[in-house]
Amino acid sequence: MSQSLHAVVVGAGIGGLAFAILARKQGLRVSVLEKTEQLTPVGAGIQIPPNASRIWSQCGVLEKLKKLSVVSEATQLRRWKNGELLCTRTVGEALDERWPWLVIHRADYQRILVQEAQELGVTIRLGSNVHAVDFDLGSLTLGSGEVIAGDIIVGADGLWSSLRNAILGHESPPQETGDLAYRGTFSLSALQALNDTQVDELCSKNIVTMWLGPGSHAVFYPVRCGKEFNLVLTRPDNLPPNIRTEKGNLSEMVALFQHWDPVLKRILSAFSSVLKWKMLHHEELTNWARGNVALLGDACHPSLPYQAQGAAMAVEDGAALATLLGLYQQALHRNGGAEEASKILTIPKILENYEALQKARTTRLHLGSISNQHLYHLHDGKEQEERDRILRATEWKERPIGEAEAFIWIDVRYQMAVVGRDTISDARVKWDRMISQLDTNE
Ligand SMILES: Cc1cc2nc3c(=O)[nH]c(=O)nc-3n(C[C@H](O)[C@H](O)[C@H](O)COP(=O)(O)OP(=O)(O)OC[C@H]3O[C@@H](n4cnc5c(N)ncnc54)[C@H](O)[C@@H]3O)c2cc1C
Repeated sequence: MSQSLHAVVVGAGIGGLAFAILARKQGLRVSVLEKTEQLTPVGAGIQIPPNASRIWSQCGVLEKLKKLSVVSEATQLRRWKNGELLCTRTVGEALDERWPWLVIHRADYQRILVQEAQELGVTIRLGSNVHAVDFDLGSLTLGSGEVIAGDIIVGADGLWSSLRNAILGHESPPQETGDLAYRGTFSLSALQALNDTQVDELCSKNIVTMWLGPGSHAVFYPVRCGKEFNLVLTRPDNLPPNIRTEKGNLSEMVALFQHWDPVLKRILSAFSSVLKWKMLHHEELTNWARGNVALLGDACHPSLPYQAQGAAMAVEDGAALATLLGLYQQALHRNGGAEEASKILTIPKILENYEALQKARTTRLHLGSISNQHLYHLHDGKEQEERDRILRATEWKERPIGEAEAFIWIDVRYQMAVVGRDTISDARVKWDRMISQLDTNE
């Protein structure tokens, strides 16, 4: 057998594109179906932590991303009222300079990935809204009635995934988290026009700054090589249940943060418009795959973005799945024919192993985000004072096995497990185990 496997991907978000690039590099034929007519990424900045940048380095995309991003040197936590520095974390950022912690504009991230995918020969079809999936035939039906078949179908269709519903056999919408976010970007010149030395100082640093406050927090970092800045403010959700996003009211936002650090308030005064986002997540799914169809990214594990890991997990999923499928295809070719090789392994078996590799990890990270929600949003009082004392006293030492820090944010073992992960190598180990199990069973 010399023909390549054909993977059909639903969704050209970060996760779908990551899979497409990595699968193409493994020699698969890849088609991406995207419902929007034009790719206009929503949202503003996005962090690319080392577990994702390692994958981009391994497949040769990192240098392109670095040209349009900023390498973050640290993440700092500050007190909401006066900006007092509580804690500086460099654990992930200082892991290994080969896989930096990047901060980038989402539009730049997606554009670079689209270009890379197209240069590699991935077909991206815009305006292709997938309406139905047929698990027996391994095919998708578009709104136009066109049927598209593939050897593997990848549901990378995001938070409101319809493939998730199809795989589970029932509607399974994401749930409210109780929070919403205001998101926006500023140009450096708009911030410089404030004529504020403290704001200028903050803008001169390549760091992610977070202010922790009662029921809310703020995140500020540079994008576009420091020419623009991203700000996210979270607050208790006040959007009606059926509204996911809407234009934010600037005076309402400013009033909410009126008693916060004067530096943050001055930055807020530079906002000309802002978007309001309801933050949703989903409990762990029972399964991610059915037949030759598998989910990845937000389609199977949408989380609160309080660890900057949502898109990174989608990239990991894409890398894990592409690596396993690439090894499967090599085995097919070595075995001289699909029929013979399919006696050894099947695509549903590969998807089962992909799920086993990723599902527990993404649940752990999802729960980590919920635990950070608690850490970030404590109201002033005894618990907050104790939190601040612990944060100020952090020593950044790995605890003996069996012991954990009070908060995962400062837990070196937890953080290294999150950002130090080598997904492609883990997928290869998984493959070797699969093969050795088959050999034992023979
Ligand atoms: C405020 C905020 C800040 C965040 N910050 C970070 C961060 O710093 N770092 C990080 O790693 N993550 C972050 N995230 C999370 C991150 O944005 C998501 O986890 C990530 O974008 C998910 O990517 P995805 O490819 O799975 O889905 P998406 O990006 O949602 O892509 C899904 C795609 O599928 C398409 N689609 C949907 N249905 C169909 C259909 N029927 N047919 C065809 N196409 C379809 C959609 O149009 C879309 O293009 C943040 C999220 C929020 C809300």
